[in-house]
Amino acid sequence: MKYNYVVVGAGLAGLTIAERIAEVLNEKVLVIEKRNHIGGNIYDSYNEDGILIHNYGPHIFHTNDKEVYDYLSRFTPWNDFWHRVLTQVDGNLIPMPITVETINKLYNLNLSCEEVEEFLKKKAISIDDIKTSKDVALSKVGQDIYEKFFENYTKKQWGIDPGEIDTSIISRIPIRSNRDTRYFSDKYQGMPKYGYTKMCENMVQNKNIKLLLNTDYKEVINDIEYEKLIYTGPTDYFYDYKYGKLAYRSINFVFETHDKEDYQPAPVVNYPNDYDYTRITEFKKLTYQEHKKTTILKEFPCDEGEPYYPFPTKEWKDKFSLYQEDMKKEKKVLFLGRLAEYRYYNMDAVVRSALNLFEGGING
Ligand code: FAD
Ligand code: UDP
Repeated sequence: MKYNYVVVGAGLAGLTIAERIAEVLNEKVLVIEKRNHIGGNIYDSYNEDGILIHNYGPHIFHTNDKEVYDYLSRFTPWNDFWHRVLTQVDGNLIPMPITVETINKLYNLNLSCEEVEEFLKKKAISIDDIKTSKDVALSKVGQDIYEKFFENYTKKQWGIDPGEIDTSIISRIPIRSNRDTRYFSDKYQGMPKYGYTKMCENMVQNKNIKLLLNTDYKEVINDIEYEKLIYTGPTDYFYDYKYGKLAYRSINFVFETHDKEDYQPAPVVNYPNDYDYTRITEFKKLTYQEHKKTTILKEFPCDEGEPYYPFPTKEWKDKFSLYQEDMKKEKKVLFLGRLAEYRYYNMDAVVRSALNLFEGGING
């Protein structure tokens, strides 16, 4: 077999780069995927009750990057979903992230936005050298809010203390002294109207794209002649773990379908301090599907299993940098996406990285 371009992995990274090569360069691309479906972790499907679920956890698209939004909008219209999260603290369901509404509900107050800003300033602990996620939280909201909202959730999610995790993790969560209770404040936000899988199917419509599912690329790659390989799987696997395995956090996803229309008062409810799961998602509240039953998802973080989250500590970044030295030396291989780049990318960042790689590394 001969293909100028081979893409390993049919997740959002692989599909974006394959689509660009097929469409702009009018070149044939072979996409090799080990799972039995395209989409990677954004794959969604109808379960046995006919409810649209996200098989690999809740995915909400949000971005400020207009080019990325416009690019994906070629393949899907969007619903007008704006994500909201409640979190169970002290037995109450409280809006998350931290906003004026959170502070007022938590402490049974009625503060204005200015008063909340002052309130948080008083609570915040001054830390000169912010090095960890714990420092980020303490320096913005102080001990009490840190313990109630962040400490245990983070321990559950990552299996280690926030004091060992780099600043990027808790920094993902905004702290606002206004009344905006949306989880994300990005300009563009929504769910693909007909689902992520449909969007991905539209991305691979181009006749130049050939898909090979159910196949680990190592089974076939020696039989293929190619000019460039774009690899979106785990880097350690690519190099046969020559510097050892990289740590990824995994999640055990437990779905339940309930014989009632409505399960909880928000699309996602976080449980920082109770239970072994971090959060419950109710899919109908993301997709606006109408159905007399409802499916929910509980997420139990764990070490073993599918690699979902690159591990956010210095130790693992350093380990990855050993692989990076080898990656830089590759002539025919380009590395792309959350697994290969070992970065906690959201969907929009993955598409941005793929578009940049296409413009800079392939079409450039
Ligand atoms: P992947 O989706 O992991 O795709 C990689 C593909 O490569 C997979 O299909 C895999 O099977 C395949 N592959 C691996 N090894 C091989 C091999 N040896 N041979 C062949 N194929 C191989 N982002 C958001 O923007 N919003 C959210 O709300 C959000 N929620 C998330 C929730 C969870 C629980 C998780 C885990 C992630 C979430 N994300 C979210 C991030 C989002 O999933 C990623 O940004 C995106 O899916 C990454 O795409 P990718 O193509 O880089 O990786
Ligand atoms: N987090 C937290 N409490 C919460 C929600 C999040 O402490 O109620 C922390 C936790 O460390 C988590 C990180 O913030 O890993 C990022 O949260 P996000 O909701 O972005 O996680 P994702 O949806 O990517 O799993």
